[in-house]
Amino acid sequence: MTFRTHIAFATTVALPGLIYLHSIHAITAQEFIALVVTISIGSLLPDLDHTQSYISKKIPILPQIIAFFTSHRGFTHSVSGIIAATVTFTAIALFFSLPLILVVGFMVGYILHILGDAMTVSGVKVCCGYKLYLVPKPLRFRVGSSKEKVYFAIFSALISLETLFAVSTLSEKFIPLLYASLHMFTK
Ligand SMILES: [Zn+2]
Repeated sequence: MTFRTHIAFATTVALPGLIYLHSIHAITAQEFIALVVTISIGSLLPDLDHTQSYISKKIPILPQIIAFFTSHRGFTHSVSGIIAATVTFTAIALFFSLPLILVVGFMVGYILHILGDAMTVSGVKVCCGYKLYLVPKPLRFRVGSSKEKVYFAIFSALISLETLFAVSTLSEKFIPLLYASLHMFTK
């Protein structure tokens, strides 16, 4: 999956949950926006194991270190990687007294990245040599293929629909923020 499809997939899956949680007042509008942003960023993080990925080009040194120790779609795309990332983000959040909801956002995005990669023809080795595929063979696609572009178009259409629902639950002053956070990586 390319970074755009990863963000689109993660957002498509997460938005209904966020809209629901906001509608029952389980999360505030600020938390809603913070979660959209952190889920988007989290949905790129496992590809820090590839020095040429979109996210790796934004962050110095760390991708080179990770890529030195693991192959692409290796440790960072596994259950152990999920546990290690959760522990690391929690430790950073506690150390800097940051809200733990940010960790939740990053990890939701992180896991959705792995599920996104599990829609491709190569699948993801998540644990103990077990390869995860999210969809049946005819629906799997190659990274960057026209089939992936069709998926991206579907996810984008769904996000537009979901945004209409989100806008109806958010108070007016947060709507520009929602749009800005949804389009964070499209420029
Ligand atoms: Zn990946």
